[in-house]
Amino acid sequence: MKQSPMAKVVEVATGMEAEWSFHVKQSPATPTPPGVNVAGRTVSRETYSLACAGEKTRPTMKLIILDRDGVINEDSDTYIKSPEEWNPIPGSLEAITRLNHAGYRVVIATNQSGVGRGLLDLETLNQIHRKMHRMVQEVGGLIEAIFFCPDVDEANPFRKPNPGMLLEIGRRLKCSLQGAPVVGDSVRDIRAARAANAWPLLVRTGKGAQTLEREAESCANVLVFDDLATVAEYLTTDHE
Ligand SMILES: [Mg+2]
Repeated sequence: MKQSPMAKVVEVATGMEAEWSFHVKQSPATPTPPGVNVAGRTVSRETYSLACAGEKTRPTMKLIILDRDGVINEDSDTYIKSPEEWNPIPGSLEAITRLNHAGYRVVIATNQSGVGRGLLDLETLNQIHRKMHRMVQEVGGLIEAIFFCPDVDEANPFRKPNPGMLLEIGRRLKCSLQGAPVVGDSVRDIRAARAANAWPLLVRTGKGAQTLEREAESCANVLVFDDLATVAEYLTTDHE
């Protein structure tokens, strides 16, 4: 039976709301030094500060969409086909935590045509993503959902540079994509973001440097950053 394009988009979600309400409800009478165990869990300095500050400082949740390969993890021309091949770019996991703490819901949109090409199966892709979730959680961050389109057909509306996957994220999470940052390292990411009326940001990691060189026209007016850590720093700093 032929699958509809919709069925090829798969979402893996974790409990973002529970995570936030846990942190925000922590208001110990005697402040505990940051970075130590609070109510059975070790929290980072930033999380602890947020917890102690109380409900009034809870940030308004915003959406940021990240490409995976070349943005969060080191890319490979031969695809990432196993958990062993998935290795984070230095600082990228902490960048996700920083974005979370600043009120961003972090969601991934990644093509993963290696599945459609038969290079890895869905179970292996899930194992890779379990590793990614675990490593992000170890530094106090949370990826709320992963959307991917394993189809090799460029006409699939969900395959970047088509905007379907981004639009689906906005629809399911009930978030506006208007001006939402979409971070990528390829011209596919930039085009998809523009077509979805979002805000494309390019990183030099992965294929980013190559994209800047070969797709200069498409990169015009796109903000370029060294890596995801720099993006997070920029987005979490006030700019007048
Ligand atoms: Mg990429």
